[in-house]
Amino acid sequence: MNILVCVSKVPDTTAKIAFKDNNTKFASDGVTYILNPTDEWYALVRAIELKEAAGAGKVTVINVGAGDNDQYLRKALAIGADDAVLIESADDLEPFYVAKEIANYARTNNYDVVVTGKETIDYNSFSVGGMIAEFMDCAFVSQVSKWDMNGNVATLNREVEGGEEVMEVSTPFVLSAQKGMAEQRLPNMKGIMMAKTKPLAKIAAVGGDPLVTIVKFDEPKSKSAVKLFSIDEVEALVKALNEEAKVI
Ligand SMILES: Cc1cc2nc3c(=O)[nH]c(=O)nc-3n(C[C@H](O)[C@H](O)[C@H](O)COP(=O)(O)OP(=O)(O)OC[C@H]3O[C@@H](n4cnc5c(N)ncnc54)[C@H](O)[C@@H]3O)c2cc1C
Repeated sequence: MNILVCVSKVPDTTAKIAFKDNNTKFASDGVTYILNPTDEWYALVRAIELKEAAGAGKVTVINVGAGDNDQYLRKALAIGADDAVLIESADDLEPFYVAKEIANYARTNNYDVVVTGKETIDYNSFSVGGMIAEFMDCAFVSQVSKWDMNGNVATLNREVEGGEEVMEVSTPFVLSAQKGMAEQRLPNMKGIMMAKTKPLAKIAAVGGDPLVTIVKFDEPKSKSAVKLFSIDEVEALVKALNEEAKVI
């Protein structure tokens, strides 16, 4: 079974987020990036586990993005992916564009399963997986927390309000992974050394115009200063909660 794992590059959670060009673009200068956690910790690790259990097949990681994204893909290779593909793309990435590129690659290279994370931690669209499935004309199961394979049939568990859904789907299909699917794996020294020589192909994007453009980012309102009351100022505290904070 050949599995294609989609990995996105996202700002480190400690990065200072700022915008430029009249708040229309993310200011990426000086920002440190990481692999999107859901993609690395759950989608990738479970794909590797299933390949290891089957003793056959291949796990490929794919990113649509900047031509120098090698280091993020090399980390995925160090964790255990077999090979990597970077679809070199201009700026202005949005889910439709990303999904079209990945679906085009998956279709022409006959992958049995395409796995995404449930969402990125930067743009949080929850969209790419479903769009890939639509482009590939196959099933999509979202927010899967458990994934097992028996031949070409997958058993997938989804957590739903107050319970769990268990479903079966035959390959080819697309799923989006979430917490619970696997335990994070840290790359070890052997993996890091091996990753340096694993294949990493760079291919040109099919291209096309994005369907959605960001008009403006609004930053959250800055929080007002904390007001401290001493223990004998209960009346003043109640008054402030009532008249200023308007919460009681
Ligand atoms: C100017 C600019 C440059 C950018 N450059 C890059 C870049 O070089 N690399 C990058 O990854 N992101 C880049 N991004 C972020 C990119 O826009 C988002 O990853 C993309 O729009 C999808 O995010 P989403 O929240 O819509 O996806 P969601 O639908 O929330 O993502 C769900 C899942 O889809 C998969 N996925 C999402 N995006 C990608 C991707 N680009 N490649 C592979 N799998 C993906 C992941 O598995 C993810 O967990 C850039 C954004 C801008 C504005």
